[in-house]
Amino acid sequence: MVPQYESFLDATPEKGVIIVEYWWQPPNRLNGGARRSAPGMSVGAKTSMIFFKRVLASEKCWCGSGKAFGKCHRRADDWTYVSLDPDRATYSPVVLIERVFPQVNYVHARRQFAADRRLLCIDYASVRAEWALPAHPPIVNDIGQLVIGALEITARGLRIETNSERRLEHITGSASQLLGDLGKSETRRAEPQKTFAVPGRR
Ligand SMILES: [Zn+2]
Repeated sequence: MVPQYESFLDATPEKGVIIVEYWWQPPNRLNGGARRSAPGMSVGAKTSMIFFKRVLASEKCWCGSGKAFGKCHRRADDWTYVSLDPDRATYSPVVLIERVFPQVNYVHARRQFAADRRLLCIDYASVRAEWALPAHPPIVNDIGQLVIGALEITARGLRIETNSERRLEHITGSASQLLGDLGKSETRRAEPQKTFAVPGRR
């Protein structure tokens, strides 16, 4: 399931959902990536984008329950924000999440991540490096490549940043595959913006 773009022109909450996604763009003149690139390393930029996905009441709900949207998560009073799950079959509600692993060794993690060709580099400085984890198999379009979250490393350890619970578990699994035991962690969650005015509704 690849996200489709649709006009916001007659978008209302009961007609679908707002999809929140992040994309990696290769280094170019506008994002300054070409200047920051290291030898053998393509340093691009991460950009976010929201768009409307139309779902008919009779279609299967985005959550994977198998129920019709009209009998599941459809609502008329407020927008629902979702992002694509790592399995690319369903969507999850947006929750801004970061998980920090303070015991992860900076030098080791930086070397492992730099050697992994699946990761897309966003920053590669001496004291801070960051990569985005792409959806797999890749989703590429004219915006860039769809990514499901970011892995940042500094002297303070490893920090994972993403926007759904399922993405967080997936990225944590990928990180521990690459680095081994990650040690203890701390997770923080932020509620996304809950409402904004919908014209003609109260
Ligand atoms: Zn549902």
